[in-house]
Amino acid sequence: MQDRLYIDGEWVRPEKGGTLDVVDPATEAVIHKAPAGTSGDIDKAVKAARYAFDSGPWPHFTGTERAAYLRAMADKIAEKREFLARLEVADNGKPLPEALWDIDDVVNCFNYYAGLAEELDRNPEETIPLSEPRFSSRVVREPLGVVGAITPWNYPLLMAAWKVAPALAAGCTMVLKPSELTPLTALELGVIAEEVELPAGVLNIVTGTGPQAGEPLTEHPLVDKLAFTGSVSTGRKVMMAGAQDIKNVSLELGGKSPFVIFADSDIDKAVEWIMFGIFWNQGQVCSATSRVLVQASIYDAVVSRLCDEAAKIRIGNGMDEGTLLGPIVSRGQYDKIVSAIERARIDGATIAFGGRRPAGLDRGYFIEPTVLTDISEDSYVWKEEIFGPVVCVKPFKDEDDAIRMANDSRFGLAAAVMSKDVMRAERVAEALRAGIVWVNCSQPTFAEAPWGGYKQSGIGRELGRWGLANYLETKQITRFN
Ligand code: NAD
Repeated sequence: MQDRLYIDGEWVRPEKGGTLDVVDPATEAVIHKAPAGTSGDIDKAVKAARYAFDSGPWPHFTGTERAAYLRAMADKIAEKREFLARLEVADNGKPLPEALWDIDDVVNCFNYYAGLAEELDRNPEETIPLSEPRFSSRVVREPLGVVGAITPWNYPLLMAAWKVAPALAAGCTMVLKPSELTPLTALELGVIAEEVELPAGVLNIVTGTGPQAGEPLTEHPLVDKLAFTGSVSTGRKVMMAGAQDIKNVSLELGGKSPFVIFADSDIDKAVEWIMFGIFWNQGQVCSATSRVLVQASIYDAVVSRLCDEAAKIRIGNGMDEGTLLGPIVSRGQYDKIVSAIERARIDGATIAFGGRRPAGLDRGYFIEPTVLTDISEDSYVWKEEIFGPVVCVKPFKDEDDAIRMANDSRFGLAAAVMSKDVMRAERVAEALRAGIVWVNCSQPTFAEAPWGGYKQSGIGRELGRWGLANYLETKQITRFN
């Protein structure tokens, strides 16, 4: 485990010598002291990234040359799959099979953007017809510049990969500031960058807290773009900091994703998708299936099946074989979830299943999978992101009612609809105000498809060619002939 920051191709001690306690959420033990960077370290890292962009070879390499580095990084990550997955479990708490799945997605992400970097060489420019024939115009895409990337703790390495891979593919350079709660795997990305001999300064990794390292990164005048994933409240601060010198800002924020189930649906399948949607990663997923809307005639059957399935979930240390639900990432998040459940109870909700610390698990931040019913539409638990294994279930009357309830949220990240009537499902999908809508499934995520939210769930899209476009400028070169 690394105890230094990765800046300009070197491993350096943080200027002020601070450390972050890395806590295993299953045992509450401090397992490592990670380096805590501050504004001086951020300044050095940004200057290194600036120099690598302005004077280094990276933005001038062909897409194919950059792709070779990305593929080499993907290969190294694949070689270290088990090691990285175990670090992720120790740091975040998720069950090992889920962490392995994450690392496979990281490998896929690097390889995918290597492919898009190569494609940039095949389509370097576009000629556009102009209304005035004496002029001709071509459009080229260029790397945007120095990126300040700030990531959350729920998918530590994967959320970093969603930014690092497309930014590097585009020819940008970067300072990455991962969450202080889960810094371990991001630092390993520095080791990998070194192993593949990525030019110095192209990728810099500074771990530290939001106020001490994140904030100075968002305020640094030499940063061209801020790529942020996290909560709405921090996203607002990032946007305001970026406004100072009109930085390009993209934001991937929270969600309160509805899952609409019509009466003609296969209840077993619906319940399977809900279980996956809300209990995977302990419900700490931005697109988690946190609001389930069920057509009234099958409401009781769905609630009862959900409770039966929740009762079967094995809770425990993510390292233990057979664990399906690990601990919540930190004491702070655990307390937030416990208080949201308590608030729901006070607001009149019924706890149909769970809601407590599991019997026999006295240490670690464990919460039972929780099913809430009888929730009012204006209650906190229905409106706000809980970011834990807590699902709210409500009945609806008809299609219009379902669409109204689903859209009545300040968030608009993801949504899902289930019905055997494909025409209806597609119609409802179009009416839902969300950046991602799943039909007859929930949560499948593909490197090729755009990811991002409407409303307060964010600005911009990651993944797919949209994710690459995030890190490219568009330039017209117009000639008078
Ligand atoms: P958070 O906002 O608390 O922290 C995110 C990052 O911002 C961390 O690295 C943190 O150190 C940093 N930070 C905190 N204050 C800062 C400041 N003032 N300036 C700059 N950086 C600062 O979020 P979190 O608790 O780590 O993550 C959970 C949130 O992330 C949830 O709301 C979830 O929905 C969201 N999320 C969204 C997506 C998506 O794709 N839309 C994906 C994953 C997580």
